[in-house]
Amino acid sequence: MAFEGKYNTKSPAVKRLMREAQELHEATEEYYASPLEENLFEWHFTVRGPPSSPFEGGVYHGRILLPPEYPMKPPNIILLTPNGRFEINKKICLSISGHHPETWQPSWSIRTALLALIAFMPTPGNDTIGALDYTPEERQTLAKKSQSWQCETCGKIVDLLSKDGKSQPITAEEGHILGSITLKAEESPASATTAPTSLPTANFKQILRQRLMERHRANNNFAQRTQNSDTLSSSNNLFWTILIASLVSAIILLVLRRLFLV
Ligand SMILES: [Zn+2]
Repeated sequence: MAFEGKYNTKSPAVKRLMREAQELHEATEEYYASPLEENLFEWHFTVRGPPSSPFEGGVYHGRILLPPEYPMKPPNIILLTPNGRFEINKKICLSISGHHPETWQPSWSIRTALLALIAFMPTPGNDTIGALDYTPEERQTLAKKSQSWQCETCGKIVDLLSKDGKSQPITAEEGHILGSITLKAEESPASATTAPTSLPTANFKQILRQRLMERHRANNNFAQRTQNSDTLSSSNNLFWTILIASLVSAIILLVLRRLFLV
């Protein structure tokens, strides 16, 4: 890539984006993303619709706009291919995209954003910004049509993804990052009932948990076994610990609610 002469390679954003471009250089079965030839701060991406969903068989293309402050500030995602879940040509609302900058972490990446986008597709729109609630039939029709969709810059998008089963497993670090989203949703059950935007996070949590469980089951088996035997020997202590922890959490939650409501 010929970005070296054009950009200040000492800038953290440039350094980071060049590294991510290198890491995402090879298309996988699920996603592909690369910067435009003339602009390191605009990328085009292609994702495959998640299996066992109305998006199965679909391929979806879009733009990622990166702020000069990246990775301190989140990227914006804009879908271009009609899909029935997200409005096209509009910055879409994920809990990790530009509409929720407070939830973005600099350790997240374009890959994390794409994995999240795929995981979010089958979740209900719930009137959040840029969300569409098309019927499964309409989404399936759009998924079929997407096979022949073309980008003015990139060409036929179905050809951009790998077809030989190449897929990059979620790393331990990404597992940890995606796991922290899960934790966040679990910590705030009160806000989940009041704010409709939290609901996709709950579903997202389930999807990611499924993925992560498959991957980490083998790794964690030993640790869990050890944990289990400990748990058995001290189940009484654990019961009291949980009870006390729950009471303390409830008190903290009540105090926080009062503070924020007043
Ligand atoms: Zn394109």
